[in-house]
Amino acid sequence: MELFKTMDEREHEQVVFFHCKHSGLKAIVAIHDTTLGPALGGLRMYNYKSEEEALRDVLRLSRSMTYKAAVAGLNLGGGKAVLIGDPQKDKSESLFRALGRFIGSLGGRYITAEDVGTSVEDMDYIYAETDRVVGVHEVHGGSGDPSRFTAYGTLQGIRACLMKKYGHADIAKMSYAVQGVGHVGRHLVDMLREEGAKVFVADINDAAVQDVVSELGAEAVPLDDIYDTDADVFAPCAMGGAINEETIPRLKCSIVAGSANNQLDTDECGTVLEKKGILYAPDYAINAGGLMNVAIELQGYDRKRAIMMVKTIYHIIGNIFQIADRDGIPSWQAADRLAQERINAIAATKIPYTKRFKDRLDGRKPHTTAIS
Ligand code: NAD
Repeated sequence: MELFKTMDEREHEQVVFFHCKHSGLKAIVAIHDTTLGPALGGLRMYNYKSEEEALRDVLRLSRSMTYKAAVAGLNLGGGKAVLIGDPQKDKSESLFRALGRFIGSLGGRYITAEDVGTSVEDMDYIYAETDRVVGVHEVHGGSGDPSRFTAYGTLQGIRACLMKKYGHADIAKMSYAVQGVGHVGRHLVDMLREEGAKVFVADINDAAVQDVVSELGAEAVPLDDIYDTDADVFAPCAMGGAINEETIPRLKCSIVAGSANNQLDTDECGTVLEKKGILYAPDYAINAGGLMNVAIELQGYDRKRAIMMVKTIYHIIGNIFQIADRDGIPSWQAADRLAQERINAIAATKIPYTKRFKDRLDGRKPHTTAIS
């Protein structure tokens, strides 16, 4: 890969490689854009087949974080970290503490958090070395696992879709097909069932399916049949790429709204969905609840504030649909436009430095020295 050319094309600011022979650390941090604030994005630990695969992943993911923070209305930029290794075998205290020291050396430009393959416990090790980490355990003033907030935000996004498509936001009146009942998917099924809705589920993990069937009253469907399920809303809550050339013709739903990242195999798939009359809630906007929740840690964690902020996803998704209608574009493109317009507006605005702003930063709680 021609790294600078790629960075230029996707407008990345900084890519940093961290290596520690003693702990076995091989990590890459990509900072995409810090116009709105310090770059915040999770740490993904994955057994990448090659260094190039890891690099491509961190570049792609960090860029989405810029857009996610921008549409969520947060004063944060986009960044991400990847740790090369097997999360089942290669974790150790020294690995995460080494990474914590390196992240600290970035002077607040990047703040990390949990992602696929990492946990609250891993964040606690990082926190032993730097305060540029969120999603730490409650005992450190953190907010812990963000997945319930992600699910709650997804529920708000589903309501916005119902309002747009059917003129009401009554969850109970509709049926749902949830693909993936892991951390977020299980919480989402719980919330949908709590409202009295009919919910179909599928997961490669049979035990996870059995749990939501027996505990929450969901109905299991065979893994691949989830696409053909006769439900009003399809909620991808597993891996990326669920909406692709092969699955789109099979969908019977009128709405696609779920928590998974990178749901569209290509942008074109979002346009095809639209042409088929299926309303799509852009993934990085509807799944921003977890990011909102951890972002509040930067000002001293307050659960009530987090819930209030996550509820705004209803309006964010509604706003994206309005932009789509206004400009005659598909919703995936409207979300990008909303993000880019906010970034451009702030970049162009000369905000004078004031002592009040500095005082606000100085008044933050111990592990919140995110902006320096
Ligand atoms: P998770 O690993 O806990 O759950 C994923 C579930 O999907 C697992 O139960 C897994 O068995 C299942 N699965 C994997 N492949 C599947 C397939 N082909 N068909 C059906 N099921 C399959 O992950 P999570 O934290 O619940 O996150 C789910 C999605 O939401 C991911 O795409 C993640 O990137 C995204 N997301 C999560 C958060 C969060 O707060 N955890 C925030 C934003 C976005």
